[in-house]
Amino acid sequence: MNWKKKGKGQLIVLSGPSGVGKSTVISELLGARKDIYFSVSFTTRQPRVGEEDGINYNFVTRERFEEMIAGDELLEYAEYVHNYYGTSLRVIQEKLEAGIDVLLDIEVQGAAKVRAKCPDAVFIFIVPPSFEELSRRLHRRATDQEEVIQGRLQKAREECKQIPHYDYVVVNDKVSEAAWEIISILTAESCRTKNRVQLLDAISSLEGD
Ligand code: 5GP
Repeated sequence: MNWKKKGKGQLIVLSGPSGVGKSTVISELLGARKDIYFSVSFTTRQPRVGEEDGINYNFVTRERFEEMIAGDELLEYAEYVHNYYGTSLRVIQEKLEAGIDVLLDIEVQGAAKVRAKCPDAVFIFIVPPSFEELSRRLHRRATDQEEVIQGRLQKAREECKQIPHYDYVVVNDKVSEAAWEIISILTAESCRTKNRVQLLDAISSLEGD
């Protein structure tokens, strides 16, 4: 019997302020852990330059999104800076049931909903090395107006107040180090006693001997 074999997949929730470099950290992480499925969210916001439908997001109309809410098709959703963002319930359930680890990149309100529904998920919050550095990164990205950037900085301060509800905090100073820390967290999580299904079964069957 293979004691390393897993049961259900691990749900991984990653949050962090806009501009913290979450997408870059996620790309690095998924490059190193090709077995993790990245959940492509639904959103009503317009695609940014370089973003592709079905890859970065599933871009949908407000009407379609509201249909998904009414039809209970979403594990969670939130309204963030005047747009809806949400996670498909069916896709996540299928992957987890198949033993595949699933990564969600979602903001704090959505994460709170997942926490209520999926207490076994692992919650990781990515922070910048400082708010000054976050401001520099948002300006460098140069995709938003100054007013929007100030709004995102204010939002970042509010989002950081939710950190105590997360299991882990990772500082994104260097992308490769942040990705490495997340890989280490996931490795530790997979070794938790409760996640060693086969091993526990094997040991309990020995008890009768
Ligand atoms: P952006 O517009 O910069 O791509 O994303 C804005 C925020 O929405 C980010 O904090 C991102 O994590 C969050 N987000 C992306 N997808 C989802 C989702 O499916 N649900 C929720 N609640 N937040 C999401």
